[in-house]
Amino acid sequence: METLEFQAEARQLLQLMVHSIYSNKDIFLRELISNASDALDKLRLAKLQDGLEADTSDLHIEIEVDAEARTLTVRDNGIGMTRDEVVELIGTIAKSGTAELLGKLKEAKESPELIGQFGVGFYSTFMVADKVTLVTHKAGTEGHGTRWESAGEGTFTIDDAPDAPVGTTITLHLRPKDEDDALYDYTDEWKIKEIVKRYSDFISFPIRKVSGDGEAETLNSMKALWARPRSEVTDEEYHQFYRHISHDWTDPLEIINMKAEGTFEYEALLFIPARAPHDLFQRDARRGLQLYVKRVFIMDDSKELIPDYLRFVKGVVDAADLSLNISREILQQDRHIQMIRRRLVKKVLSTIKDLMGGNPEKYATFWREFGRAVKEGLLAEPDNHKPILEIASFATTALTTDGGSEPTTLAAYVERMKEGQEEIYFLTGESRSQVENSPHMEAFQAEGYEVLILTDPVDEVWVDVVPEFDGKKLRSIARGTVDLKKDEEEKQPEGDFGPLLGFLTEKLDERVKEVRLSHRLTTSAACLVSDADDITPALEKMYRAMGQ
Ligand code: ADP
Ligand code: MG
Repeated sequence: METLEFQAEARQLLQLMVHSIYSNKDIFLRELISNASDALDKLRLAKLQDGLEADTSDLHIEIEVDAEARTLTVRDNGIGMTRDEVVELIGTIAKSGTAELLGKLKEAKESPELIGQFGVGFYSTFMVADKVTLVTHKAGTEGHGTRWESAGEGTFTIDDAPDAPVGTTITLHLRPKDEDDALYDYTDEWKIKEIVKRYSDFISFPIRKVSGDGEAETLNSMKALWARPRSEVTDEEYHQFYRHISHDWTDPLEIINMKAEGTFEYEALLFIPARAPHDLFQRDARRGLQLYVKRVFIMDDSKELIPDYLRFVKGVVDAADLSLNISREILQQDRHIQMIRRRLVKKVLSTIKDLMGGNPEKYATFWREFGRAVKEGLLAEPDNHKPILEIASFATTALTTDGGSEPTTLAAYVERMKEGQEEIYFLTGESRSQVENSPHMEAFQAEGYEVLILTDPVDEVWVDVVPEFDGKKLRSIARGTVDLKKDEEEKQPEGDFGPLLGFLTEKLDERVKEVRLSHRLTTSAACLVSDADDITPALEKMYRAMGQ
């Protein structure tokens, strides 16, 4: 037997669990069932795809309670783990951003959203147990299995388990019953049933409650949620499923059901979250949808099903006509997958558009959380400029009727355009106040023209590839000669300023192309503008930073 130490981050997370920062401890069972279900999926997949020899005729999860010994056992006959895997998977936390999240978690003790983002998983057992024993045997490996045990206090032991069957058995040694304030105990049968029903009803393998005398009762309905008509599923069921696949504890903003029949059949259940994950803009963040083929789980994080700019969308696609053997490589080229992807994009964008009209508050939440990501789509998908611009909104110089500032859609901007105004004006910059105080703004403000204020980094880039909206050109007021007063600017006689302009041109020779008189300023003495087809100063800075 060996005694090993948990990795530092794992130890910290365990500390948080042992001292129960969670108010809802019931979720430990959901986490164990979720892991067991994953392990069953993996075994079935290994048999299908790698030809692993395994009996998959009765894949299931068992729960057994011993009230006298105060133990609760969750058993699966799934893929199991090797000894090395146990040490690696259970002893460490490899997920990116863990350290950072841990810090936040400790600050915000009672914030379930943060914990939700975390995916507490296996360690949540230490909220209710003072000792946890895990016995496992990996499918396809000869010889003995592995036994792991820990009290959650910094170390764990690991040992051989000679007779362990294939799969994983986890036994929780429950903490003493709290007589004073606990209305229930995790050895209560009704409590176990309630938790399974509430959190794990849709799990596609039977979850059986077994008693000492060998009797078994299946506790879940096993119905694939995406295959059921919307009218038959409660919001609560959808929300539980969403939590299961997303680890996000905030209820989703919108639920989308799709079903296609005919030559290529598929069903999809998509969720638009109500809040952006902390890693929305991190390269290694998890993204993509779950792919099923005829109710059989095939893979997580399938990026081929949804473009990057909609990476925050969660959900499941179940396709009827794909091979169960489909690999990621094949997926990328598959015509059907590309078609599904196009339809999903269309549906997501039209759902947001409906929200704009039907539920402006939800729409505002959506755009605040995900607008920055959605705008990347203007670069990625030229064909979708129109639907993306239609659901976009932007900060603007126009004030609302009560004098406040609110983002505007382009359609609303166009409606407010002044007599004779033909273009949509915008100015990019680092912050609202920087843009508002830019000298470029002066003449536009003075003349009462509305200017969009674009301050997201991605704004610098998409404005260069999107020429127009609704027949109106998008025009940066920092570039070229914006003809506010129809060409007057160029014709402006130099008058007494001739010598000054000449002097400045000579002095600034290396630095500017031209010095000219302008109408665009009202209070500032001078400003820098780029030529119409030059890159913007901010973009220039970005390129320079990238070493180009
Ligand atoms: P997550 O499920 O988010 O990866 P967990 O803490 O729940 O995090 O589990 C950590 C890892 O331990 C899992 O990814 C899986 O590889 C392994 N694991 C946990 N439970 C089981 C099980 N019942 N069978 C096989 N592997 C398991
Ligand atoms: Mg898990």
